Amino acid sequence: MTITALMPVYGRCEVEPVRGEGCYLYDAQGREWLDFASGIAVNILGHSHPHLVGAIQKQAATLMHTSNLYNVPAQAALAQRLVDLTFADTVFFTNSGAEAIECAVKTCRSHHYAAGHPEKFRILTFSNAFHGRTLAAISATNQEKMRKGFEPLPDWFHVLPFNDLEAVTAAIDPSIGGIMVEPVQGEGGIRAATPEFLKGLRALCDEHGLMLILDEVQCGVARSGTLFAHEQYGITPDIMAIAKGIGGGFPVGACLATEHAASGMIVGAHGSTYGGNPLAMAACEAVLDVVTEPAFLSHVNEMAARLRSSLEQMIPNHDDLFESVRGLGLMMGLKLKSDSRAFVNHARSHGILLVAAGENVVRLLPPLIITEAHIRECVDKLSAAARAYTPPVAAPVVAAAPPIAAAAAA
Ligand SMILES: *Cc1c(COP(=O)(O)O)cnc(C)c1O
Repeated sequence: MTITALMPVYGRCEVEPVRGEGCYLYDAQGREWLDFASGIAVNILGHSHPHLVGAIQKQAATLMHTSNLYNVPAQAALAQRLVDLTFADTVFFTNSGAEAIECAVKTCRSHHYAAGHPEKFRILTFSNAFHGRTLAAISATNQEKMRKGFEPLPDWFHVLPFNDLEAVTAAIDPSIGGIMVEPVQGEGGIRAATPEFLKGLRALCDEHGLMLILDEVQCGVARSGTLFAHEQYGITPDIMAIAKGIGGGFPVGACLATEHAASGMIVGAHGSTYGGNPLAMAACEAVLDVVTEPAFLSHVNEMAARLRSSLEQMIPNHDDLFESVRGLGLMMGLKLKSDSRAFVNHARSHGILLVAAGENVVRLLPPLIITEAHIRECVDKLSAAARAYTPPVAAPVVAAAPPIAAAAAA
């Protein structure tokens, strides 16, 4: 037997954190990393935040899970809080981002079905999108590395170029029921939608009776500098998926919708055993307590401006390696002139955790509670890593036959 007990679907690095505090992770040997990955945009309050930990401890000792067969008062209360904070009239709670996307897609489908238009089953999505790893979510992207081995995938989605409104206009036909988009693509390379694009999608949805579905799983919950990224574009969606930051590290997601969009989500239409359990609700309430404090968003924006200008000042010192800074709020991308994955690997040995993304972008997704000192430390560590870095030699265009191992891994 050569397979590992843990199904080997991740190419894991050597870092083995056993403890976290604020913006730092520690391994069993006491090695420390500045965590500018936040478990991929999840730990927005950093690690071991006392208010979040306290809320989870208290709830765990009271009631963790009942069932959606019963009333769950904490669920109704959190739904009302999200409704009061957003465009939405109604909320379904899930345990992850992909499940929130699943609910969003089902909400869109059932809306058209309820309206007598079952033929409007397709949804337009965008190049390099990432919506999760369920079969529905991987059929919504054109990223080959996620689809490979799982095809044929159903023809529910049509993938179009991102930020290309003309392509969307041309693709609308009677089978289209909605448009699903990340206001800021995360995995795809920290690419923000242009204001014209998002506003244009809203206008097209209004004109054709389509559902605008926003995937704010990564960019939502204060990361972009507003509670939700779409607020900066002056539009609202019909349906929105959130997860990651909302639990601050506790696995939870949600699908938010307007009353009109949710017209098909009647008794029996959807469900989840764990979704909306009291423990998850307590975590979300604690996160919202912190991020809705009046000074929180201004702190995020202040830190974002400082991080951006510090990175911009650093680039000329290493202009053989770094190209530009992009992103919104504390969802920042540093575009490299060579493979970003290799640099992220190298940077770990300089004590900083980052995440690679598409287009040779290094994602900086720090906890939203960072201070100026963390930003200085980040830039010092990036600069030190850059000074000690030799980019990998680019693969030759016409390669000889690869060695067996490489061919098997490809
Ligand atoms: C992470 C992510 C998802 C999937 O969330 P999971 O909790 O991993 O299922 C979906 N959409 C976006 C934009 C994401 O970043």
